[in-house]
This record gives sequence, structure tokens and C-alpha cells, in this order.
Amino acid sequence: MGTENPNRPNYPLRPAATPFAAQQSTTPFLPSGPVVGSEASAFRPAPPASSQFPTPPFPTGPFVGSEAPAFRPPPSSRSNDLVRPPPSYGSPASGFQRFPTPPLTSTGQVPPPRTSLAGQAVIPPPTRPSPGPVSLLSQPQPPSVPMGTPPQSIKTGQSNPNVPLPADQHFSPSTPNSQPSSPPMGPSYAAPRGTFQPAFPGYTNTQPNSVAQAPPTQPASFPLQQGSYAPPSATPFLAQQRGYVPGPPTSTPSGLYSGNQVQQHGIAPPIATSQTLAEDFSSLSLGSVPGSFDAGLDAAALPRPLDGDVEPKSFTEMYPMNCSSRFLRLTTSGIPNSQSLASRWHLPLGAVVCPLAEAPAGEEVPVINFATTGIIRCRRCRTYVNPYVSFTDNGRKWRCNICSLLNDVPSEYFAHMDATGRRVDLDQRPELTKGSVEFIAPAEYMVRPPMPPLYFFLIDVSISAVQSGMLEVIAQTIRSCLDSLPGSTRTQIGFITYDSTIHFYNMKSSLTQPQMMVVSDLDDIFVPLPDDLLVNLSESRSVVEAFLDSLPSMFQENMNLESAFGPALKAAFMVMSQLGGKLLIFQNALPSLGVGRLRLRGDDTRVYGTDKEHMLRVPEDPFYKQMAADFTKYQIAVNVYAFSDKYTDIASLGTLAKYTGGQVYYYPSFQSSIHKDKLRHELARDLTRETAWEAVMRIRCGKGVRFTSYHGNFMLRSTDLLALPAVDCDKAYAAQLSLEETLLTTQTVYFQVALLYTSSSGERRIRVHTAAAPVVADLGEMYRLADTGAIISLFSRLAIEKTLSSKLEDARNAVQLRIVKALREYRNLYAVQHRLSGRMIYPESLKFLPLYGLALCKSTPLRGGYADAQPDERCAAGYTMMALPVKNLLKLLYPDLVRVDDYLVKMSAQAEELDNITKRLPLTAQSLDTRGLYILDDGFRFVIWFGRSISPDIMRILLGEDFVTDYSKVSLSQRDNEMSRKLMKLLDRFRESDPSYYQLCHLVRQGEQPREGFVLLTNLVEDQIGGANGYADWMMLLFRQIQQNA
Ligand SMILES: [Zn+2]
Repeated sequence: MGTENPNRPNYPLRPAATPFAAQQSTTPFLPSGPVVGSEASAFRPAPPASSQFPTPPFPTGPFVGSEAPAFRPPPSSRSNDLVRPPPSYGSPASGFQRFPTPPLTSTGQVPPPRTSLAGQAVIPPPTRPSPGPVSLLSQPQPPSVPMGTPPQSIKTGQSNPNVPLPADQHFSPSTPNSQPSSPPMGPSYAAPRGTFQPAFPGYTNTQPNSVAQAPPTQPASFPLQQGSYAPPSATPFLAQQRGYVPGPPTSTPSGLYSGNQVQQHGIAPPIATSQTLAEDFSSLSLGSVPGSFDAGLDAAALPRPLDGDVEPKSFTEMYPMNCSSRFLRLTTSGIPNSQSLASRWHLPLGAVVCPLAEAPAGEEVPVINFATTGIIRCRRCRTYVNPYVSFTDNGRKWRCNICSLLNDVPSEYFAHMDATGRRVDLDQRPELTKGSVEFIAPAEYMVRPPMPPLYFFLIDVSISAVQSGMLEVIAQTIRSCLDSLPGSTRTQIGFITYDSTIHFYNMKSSLTQPQMMVVSDLDDIFVPLPDDLLVNLSESRSVVEAFLDSLPSMFQENMNLESAFGPALKAAFMVMSQLGGKLLIFQNALPSLGVGRLRLRGDDTRVYGTDKEHMLRVPEDPFYKQMAADFTKYQIAVNVYAFSDKYTDIASLGTLAKYTGGQVYYYPSFQSSIHKDKLRHELARDLTRETAWEAVMRIRCGKGVRFTSYHGNFMLRSTDLLALPAVDCDKAYAAQLSLEETLLTTQTVYFQVALLYTSSSGERRIRVHTAAAPVVADLGEMYRLADTGAIISLFSRLAIEKTLSSKLEDARNAVQLRIVKALREYRNLYAVQHRLSGRMIYPESLKFLPLYGLALCKSTPLRGGYADAQPDERCAAGYTMMALPVKNLLKLLYPDLVRVDDYLVKMSAQAEELDNITKRLPLTAQSLDTRGLYILDDGFRFVIWFGRSISPDIMRILLGEDFVTDYSKVSLSQRDNEMSRKLMKLLDRFRESDPSYYQLCHLVRQGEQPREGFVLLTNLVEDQIGGANGYADWMMLLFRQIQQNA
């Protein structure tokens, strides 16, 4: 066979275990020249006629040009390499193998016996090295670092003593990384330091001296109404049950983690429930007489987003022609008219855009083909024609709503005006009536023919990839999706596998089997047979199927521990760079060989809390950023799937996704028996969801305002052009807005999102979303038009970015500080008028802001310190949250908690019962009844919690005899009884409500520690967790800080 790696004589043959016998190939390696090849020359780059996208998405000259010389050694030296076989692979003459007929089983893989092939070496049974990376018995998601202080019990109200933490056993000691990070790649990646510290140029304390004389006059726009949160007079003092320790009131904690207890005394005096408050703000009773101790806070009266994300309606009513909020949300729809007003807002000012959000049936975005007319755009600012342009001069001119330029109406687009000044053809012009349209772009929007959908797979086949079952699951899933990949007959596909060497696969349609070629020279990567590694799926379908069917068994005996990830990545780039497309990476280990190899880091607890802490969350080796830049340039989006039970440096690997518009999927300690459904679902969605290719996006806005920073997974191509090699409905992007002029004179500001992309069907299209927002001169109006979901979405991204340059604590404090400043400003506006000195007041629109802020500080990327989340877990969550649409993010921060046992037990009245159980509960242990069965759903996983006193019968019915065993080893499956069917149906229903991720079930029994702590209790964000404040404490803390200097 000759595939033995001489460097690792202890390991059995690697690809020799494949069912493909080695044969001498008749196809010699081709020189690397054809990587550029004849196909590239077939592209006829057209000059970019549109100035909207001044930088063409592709280099217009030689497609693979001088920009990538490092990856393409000169042909002369290459040809020398090619005439001799790679030394470490003894397959005669060519150095690569050819596949014989593989066993063509369908998706169910039965690995053939090792001795089934004549002439094949008999492989010794796998001897797993003792420190093997995979343990088949490992638990589903047991973090090897336990939560710092998982709450140990329910309803005890005791604060938990800190448990000494074992160091992460997977990490070998190493010195903390002190290497500076590579420079940021573009203006948007500048360290976010300072973004949380808005200047205060216009800030003044509005009514500092008017306490005594302020008349309680209501602003005209606030009709009198009872406040939503005036507490009932007979409020039980819940805080006492929550373990508050009385203390001197002066020791005000200053931060989320600065103190476990908020000191309070006494009971709140009853406050008249008839107290009048404005409709647009609410208040919470937090104190009694000024100067006295703070009184109890009625925890039950605290606002909770139990209906999920509720978008503000007033805005859409004001501008019915705006695009749907699923595509664009502003943090406040009241655009401040001056910089001084903007500086008093304190919260992020900006937008969250999800350009391809899925629209329900009947609300699809209309597609418009202007054909020979050409797309109507403003001559000056290149805005697309939209419902807010105005026609004048009897329909011969139109005025741009963004820059006010008067444009000529092309004769082909001319229509008469009716008596009311409307174009007579308005009913046939969706672009003039709808906020979202899609234009079919003519040839001048292309620099080459629209690319075909292209999926390239880079698959780790080292020992852990095989033994965890990952390889088999992905091979089966990819095969099962072949019919539903977008692009029909245009779709292209290709594969590379790797361990300590790189394996290419010739999939040429004329072959009956794929040919495998092994390249072992990691220092000088070249691509054999560059023309046949990427193939048209429909033409080579049988070869691709044969490959996927045999892939798991090919490597089933592989004992190779190494990972030549970096060289394999470069090889994938070389194969894909002609066309672009999506690169899906499946990585099981820390890259260990060749360029881009990574080392263990993050195991030194002393780094935490120092100014070097953030280095663990940024890539150490500039190789990954450089590769990401190259991928983006050549329209390649990278999705990273990571599976290891050990540290794999997601901080570095995730960079590939971050800068290419991609996504990170993380399955720590992947075991097929536990995680396969989740991987199958999420990979299938990744492969089959509608995707926009080779895209660029720009958000225009009216004069006087400007988007100044962008936050999400992309790379900036110019100051405001986002390069997105691939986009789909699951990706959102955020941007911060600032005022360029001291004073805005217009009454409306318009926004227009334009996404230029290639559809899977091969059309070049421009999706355009347009929205208008009023300019306001009053801070109260800004608050009234605020959108908490958009604010939190932008907030989260800023905070996560801050963890890349600062301590976690600093990032949390920044969140807290901005909330305090915003609410203090609000208080200054209204409190005095309403004599609300003992109350915390806040705008109705922002009533959930403090709670979401708290949840953000407790989310995986930001929470705690060293022991509270593994570095990989933190980084993966951070990359994920940077791309999440608003609704998904809010659900992750404040998951749904529902009680289901009543519903399961009752046999009738299903319809109404179903509505009842979707009633969400506050995320606190006080919501949990020991006799109950609860489901927590954060969109990524289910936690099913069994109360201690739940009937053993129910447990037996749902879990069979497993109910007495360790729940970490129990997986929920449908049993032959009505109750089990109902439960599974219910879970399916939850999953269907948002298919972007798949929720795996984690079962936990009350009191099962520490599992209950890290599986469930850390998600109960209203409780004290690991030294962080609970909701009531948090509100007290904010209240006191708001009072200071007020
Ligand atoms: Zn214009």
C-alpha cells in the first residue's frame, strides 16, 4: 500500500484501511498552473459600471493573480516535485491511490470487514493510546471545568460557598500567551475600547435645582395612566426569602460581581396603586422615604419578557411603507436632531439588519426586472428607487429621498400623474409601494458570470473524528442532502480529508470511483489534478455518492492523531479560489502540523483578571486572519464545525468564519450516540438553506447621519461596504450610527439596505430594504421609540468585541454603566416632576433592558471568570452571538421556561392545554415546583428538569427503566405510550418554531449536582449565580447608581 507514514511507525496504515485497494494511477499529477486554468479565462470580467459598489467583488484581472503567490510556487519548481512521488507514500510512480469499487451501501453504513479485500494488509486491531482524545463514555456536555459556583440547591435561598476548582485537566501547563495580537484588519475591527464611553458634550443635569418647585405637570404627549409596575400594597417581601443579608446601606456594590448581597432593611411602605404615571414610563418601588434605608423590592412586580421579543409597533404604524422589522430594526426610531441630544441617549444608536430573513408565506419579497430600462437609481448617491421618492414635473423628474437630488425619469419608466399627484401605474410598481424589493441586476452588476453554488468540505479524519462517529454522521448527512443543495444542476462539490497528510479526491464524472491522492509534503502544498477536485454534482453524482458511502469505512482504522489543518486549509483555498463558494470545515483536534499549528493555552488561571486575559480570546497566529482575508477576497465563506473534547483554540479557528461571513458550530466532546441529531439537523440546514453568493452589502442613510462601525461576521471592503461571500437567513449584522452635523434640519431620515448577490439559480440580484424614521428633538421621544431587542443586539456585539481587548469584568461593567447612564438621564427628565424619589423609573419601551443587560452579563461569552466557561466555549458562543438575528439572541439570553407535567398527564383538551403550557415562567428557581416537569428552551438546547417529588410513574413512562440512572447518560426517545408521544410532539413543536438550530435534550433531576448547576441553574438568570447578582439585587444596584449624582 505504501501509505504508511514513516514518521509515525507505531500507527497502523492510514488510508490503507480503506476498502480501496491501491492501484497505480494512470493520471499523473498536473502542474499547478491549471489551478488558474482555462475556466478562469472563460470569465469575462465586465467593468463595474455601477459606482454603488466601487470595488468589484472580484479582482477583475487575472482571477487568481499575483495576490496569492505564496500559495503557488513557480511551475518550474513544481514540475520537479511532480515527477517524483512523494517520498512517504510508496504507491508506485504516482504517490496516490485509486479507489476500487466501494461497497455501495446506502446511507446506513456497515463497515466492511477489514479482511474483505484481497491483497490488503491486515490491520491490527485499533489500540487506542491511553491519553486518547475521545472517551466513548464521556458525558454529553460535561464541561471539564465545573461552573465556578453552581447553585447547589433550589429554594434554599442560601448563597453557595465557592467550591475549589480543579484546574482543567485537559490543559497542560504552559505560560500565558503574551504575544500581541495581530493588527486589526479594518476600521470596523478597531478595538472597541471607548465605544462604551460616549462623550458628554451636551450633557447637563436637566433640573438639578428644581426639586422643590417642579410642578407635576404632565408633558402633553403623556396621557395620564396608572403605572404598570406600581406594586400592590400587600407585597410579600420576597427579597427576604432570597437570602439578603441586612447591612449598612452605604456599602453600595458597584458591579455585577462586586457583592453577593445587596443590603436592605425594612419593608416598603404601601404606595398607592392609584398613583398616576405617564403611559410611556413605568416605575418600580425601590425605597421609601428619601434618606431612609431602601425598602424591599417586589420581585414579582419586576418586568419580564415572558412574551418573547415584542417589537415596537408605533414605528411601523407611522411609516407603513417601511420594510418589515424582520429585515431592519433601529435601536430607536426617533433619530436625534442634534449631537447634543444624541450624546444624552447613552445607549447604542444604530441598526440591526438581517437582509435575508425568512418571510412567512404571502409576504415574500417581490422580484422586479427592469430589463432594458435599467435599475432606477439616484444619479448622485446611488440610492435605489423606493416608496419614499417623490415624482414632480408631471412625472418627468423624481427627487431622491436620501440626498434630495432631482433626477430625470427615464422615458421607459415614465408614467403620468393622477389628480392627487400619484403615478397612475403605482399599483404595478412594487418598488414604489413596498419597503422590500429585489431587483434583477443586469450585466453591469457583474464582474464575471454569476458563480454556481459551490460546497467544499474539509474533513478531519484523524482518530477522534472517526471514533466519535463524527465522520460517519457528516458523510451520511451530506449524502442525504445532495438532492436539496441549492443550485439544481449548477451546483459544484468537492472534498479534502486530512490527518497528518492531505488527501485529495478526483471526482471526474468519467470515473466510476473517486481517486484518492495523498500529499504529504506539508511545507510546500500543491494541488494534484486541480481540474477534477471540484466537480459538477449532477454530472459526478455517482462518484460523489460512492465517495460518501465509503468515507467512514475508509478511515475506520485510522490511528493518526495529527492534524495538518493549516496546510489542508491552504489546499482547499487553492482548489476553491477560481470560483469561491462555501467551505465547510470539520475539525476534531488542535491543528498540530505545518503552518497554522496551534498550541494549548488558556490553562493558566493567573491570566484571568489581568490585562492579558483577553489574549486568550483572540487568535495567536496571524495565519488565520490572513487566510480569512484571502478567502473573503476570493468569495469563499467558511463555516467551522468543531467537535473536540479538548482545547482546539476556537478563538483562532473561528477567525476564519468571522471575517468570511461564516458561522461557528461547536459540539464539544461530540459523540455520535448523543449529538448526531443536532449535527445532522444543523449541517443539513447549513447545506440546504437558501444562500446568497458572492455578496456585498451597504446601508445608506440620509444626509447628516452616517454609519460609523459595523459588528458581525464579515469583512469591510471599503469604509461602508461589507463583503459577504455567502449570506443566509440566519445571519444578522449590526451598525452604529452617528450624527455628522450638529443639527439635522430634515424631519425624516431614510435608511436603505442594499445587498448585491448571486442567487443559487444564477441570477445577479439586488435586495433593497428601505425605511424611514422621524427626526426628534426630544429625548423622551427617543425613549418612546426605542427598541430593546435592537439595543440588546447591538449591545451584545459591542460587549463581546470588548472582551477581545479587555477583561470580562470591564466588558460587563461597560454594559452596566451604559444602562445606568441611560436610566439616570431618563430619571432626570421625569422623576422630579412626579416626585418619584424612591422609585426607579424607566421608559415603557425599555422595561426589559435591565434584565436583558443582566442576562448578557451572565451569558457564556461574558460571565464570571476562568472557571465559569472554558475558553473554547466562550469563544464559540461569542462568534455565534455576533451573527444572531435579534429574536434568536433574545431567546438565548432569556430562554423560555415552561411547565409541562399537567399537560402530559391530562389526556384530553389538548388544544387549550397546549396554549397554557406555552405560558412562560420567570427564570428563577422560585418558578420550579418539586412536583413538576419543566422545559427550558434557549433555541440551542432543551433542558428538561424533573422535580424531586415528581411521580415515579411519570418518570418510568417517559424514560423507561432509565429513570433511576444517571441522567447525563439518558437520552430521551419516544416510547410506546401517549405521554411520551405528547412530550416528543411538544419538543418538535418548539423546534419547528425556529429551525435555525436544533435543541438537543439535556435531562436533569432536581438536586443532581453539579449537573443541575451548569445545565439548568446557570440559565436561571434572575437568581444569584456564582457570585453574580440576581434580578432584584441587580435592580437595586442600578437604582442606587442611578441615584448617585442624579
Ligand atoms: Zn440621492
